[in-house]
Amino acid sequence: MATGYCVKCKASREIADPKAITMKNGRPATEGRCPVCGTRIFKIGAPESGTPPGPGEAPAGGRP
Ligand SMILES: [Zn+2]
Repeated sequence: MATGYCVKCKASREIADPKAITMKNGRPATEGRCPVCGTRIFKIGAPESGTPPGPGEAPAGGRP
């Protein structure tokens, strides 16, 4: 089960309705919703991938 950080709850939540997406730079990411408040959660890395995102991981959503 993929988890991500909910900025509204300020806590880690399971990602509800997770979807595998690909970012502009070609890296996999997971997008879904917070099961508590419904806020969108975005996590770098594929849902079922065991590969760590690496040292360059950055929280998404801070840039336009
Ligand atoms: Zn939340």
